[in-house]
Amino acid sequence: MDLQTYLDQAQKIVFLTGAGVSTASGIPDYRSKGGLYGGKERPEYLLSRTCLAKEPQKFYAFVQKMYYPKAQPNVIHQKMAQLAQKGRAKIITQNIDDLHRQAGTPEDCLVEFHGNLYEIFCQKCGQRHLSYQDYLASPIHIGCGGILRPDIILYEEGIPTSRLQRAIVAIQRADLLVVCGTSLVVYPFADLLEYRQSRAQVVALNREALSLPRGAQQIIGDAREQFAQVRV
Ligand SMILES: [Zn+2]
Repeated sequence: MDLQTYLDQAQKIVFLTGAGVSTASGIPDYRSKGGLYGGKERPEYLLSRTCLAKEPQKFYAFVQKMYYPKAQPNVIHQKMAQLAQKGRAKIITQNIDDLHRQAGTPEDCLVEFHGNLYEIFCQKCGQRHLSYQDYLASPIHIGCGGILRPDIILYEEGIPTSRLQRAIVAIQRADLLVVCGTSLVVYPFADLLEYRQSRAQVVALNREALSLPRGAQQIIGDAREQFAQVRV
């Protein structure tokens, strides 16, 4: 079956998305082998709570490189957003690049599992919704001298319970789960999928064959091409 058939037959769709959805918008996967940031220290340290606390300048130097403010949503984000606007889909993403939001996904249909780079807050005074442009100019909060940070989940930090709960509820209600741009075996999606109904279909869109949970289907190919053909 093709993607359209799966979508047409479903009542409640959940899209689970990862870095592969955003590479089509020009955002590289910082975890990918030989990625742009192949420095001496690993992202697992540079994006950790320890690094932010002990070496905030080092954290800042790394996190700055993750911003692609000129990146635009691509057809995958757009078609998913249209299905969400029609009340047919929810999106759970690992991506922190804001592109699902920019594509027009309603807030209540989107779970940004790992947070959002463009949500800046001050660790000292707690002020939120600060400008990311100001953050990219300086990591110090002018108002209080505190150190700013983006609202993303760092290594050594857990997913907030309410966010986890929203993701689980969406998955429990879904009759179709479409995994796109990420492997199914890696945390957190592999764990989240365990909450699905037994009758729910799981479909993975990927360039290469993945190891799939039992009963899951796979559509091999370019996700951008597949979504370009989807009629919402
Ligand atoms: Zn402050």
